Amino acid sequence: MSTSTLPPPDARPGASPTPTAPDAAAAAAFARETNPMHAMLARYAAAAAALDLDPGIDKILRQPEREVTIAIPVEMDDGRIEVFTGYRVVHSTLRGPGKGGIRYDLGVTPDEVRALASWMTWKCAVVDLPFGGAKGGVLCDPRALSERELERVTRRYTAGLIATLGPDADVPASDVGTNEQVMAWILDTYSMHVRHTAPAVVTGKPVVLGGSLGRGDATGRGVLLTAEAALAHLGISMAGATVAVQGFGKVGAAAARLLAEAGARVVAVSDYTGGLHDARGLNVRDLEAWVLRHGTLLDCPYGDRIGNDELLALDVDVLVPAALESVVTSRNAATIRARIVCEGANGPTTAEADATLEANGVFVVPDILANAGGVTVSYFEWVQNRAAYTWSEATVNERLAEVMRRSFTQVLGLAKQRSVPMRTAAYMLGIGRVAAVQKLRGLYA
Ligand code: NAD
Repeated sequence: MSTSTLPPPDARPGASPTPTAPDAAAAAAFARETNPMHAMLARYAAAAAALDLDPGIDKILRQPEREVTIAIPVEMDDGRIEVFTGYRVVHSTLRGPGKGGIRYDLGVTPDEVRALASWMTWKCAVVDLPFGGAKGGVLCDPRALSERELERVTRRYTAGLIATLGPDADVPASDVGTNEQVMAWILDTYSMHVRHTAPAVVTGKPVVLGGSLGRGDATGRGVLLTAEAALAHLGISMAGATVAVQGFGKVGAAAARLLAEAGARVVAVSDYTGGLHDARGLNVRDLEAWVLRHGTLLDCPYGDRIGNDELLALDVDVLVPAALESVVTSRNAATIRARIVCEGANGPTTAEADATLEANGVFVVPDILANAGGVTVSYFEWVQNRAAYTWSEATVNERLAEVMRRSFTQVLGLAKQRSVPMRTAAYMLGIGRVAAVQKLRGLYA
């Protein structure tokens, strides 16, 4: 299966059922390119080589510490029983508890969850949080489930993980297809099992249950902060900078709104139904209000309709892919005209596309830096829960800005010092920090 927003032409409905040998070879190569685990490991290998990583530590860091597959039997509203499949992968707990979101999507695969878990490890290390990396996923279409069905899926999935979740062990958060309500059900299920309320078991929960002020916008705010730093680095003014955002969910909508508030002109946004374009700038708050009422951008009356692939190719200062993996690939990398690609999503660019972007002078703020604002405020949430004390939104935002600006400066500094792209520098920084901890801790035998 592919999580790409740009499935290979031969996978589209109506394509020839009997591809010729070269077609089949190209399809197989593209399937490999868009496998998130391939995308993660290709970058990992480049950074490990640049770090001259100890071969033993290299072997350890390539593999997740733990993987669980869970059958989730659920009684549907009509009385039928369905069995969903869920995964949780903890890639590393070397620097602290596993940390990473839970995705509800029909595209979830074991390799996707594995890659996302590893990315969480590198990301937490890049921004220097005391967390490892983890990720979960349930193969389902949350839009096709009723609220009660979603709750039953969530509770049974959580019950299946009960022995390994916990504030000191593995701390989930929301991701594609999950939200604050899903986090509240996880908190409740875990708390009922351990016989006390344990808010720090999950982040991204509602504020009244111990969620952090500022968490809702945190990933988008991190995108704003890193885009701001990238624009400043390239000598482009934020005022009037043009922006296109793919994905209008928790990350994309917040990034679009905050960039617009900072003075940028958001000329295009999209979701899975397609996109909207207005060269004069879209009113992001109007779009958010529309999506709140209607669920998607479909039939939204603002701007002109535009396809997701057209949006990616717009001539803008900043392109923010904030939907799913593998949307910028070897097939369309040459069409990217943005000056900056600021990766709100995890893994939106394939490893094969990196060289083309680099050759064309596109400045990439890699996912493990650009979207780290979410996990940073998740960390603040976890800290507040453990201290049983809450911070003001201003404090959260101020500390987030400090972390994001410091991390951007460190990655850019390493990129310049080692003459490597920002992505390789970010991986080097993250992997180097995890490897140093592994070396000091040694092996328990
Ligand atoms: P979400 O479910 O809130 O939103 C996803 C958005 O992407 C929706 O607007 C959806 O319509 C759109 N989308 C889905 N398929 C698409 C397609 N084929 N083409 C175009 N748009 C499509 O999810 P989110 O939490 O905003 O996450 C988006 C990305 O950001 C993911 O890669 C996620 O892993 C990453 N991320 C999220 C967070 C977070 O705090 N939520 C943190 C870091 C990274």
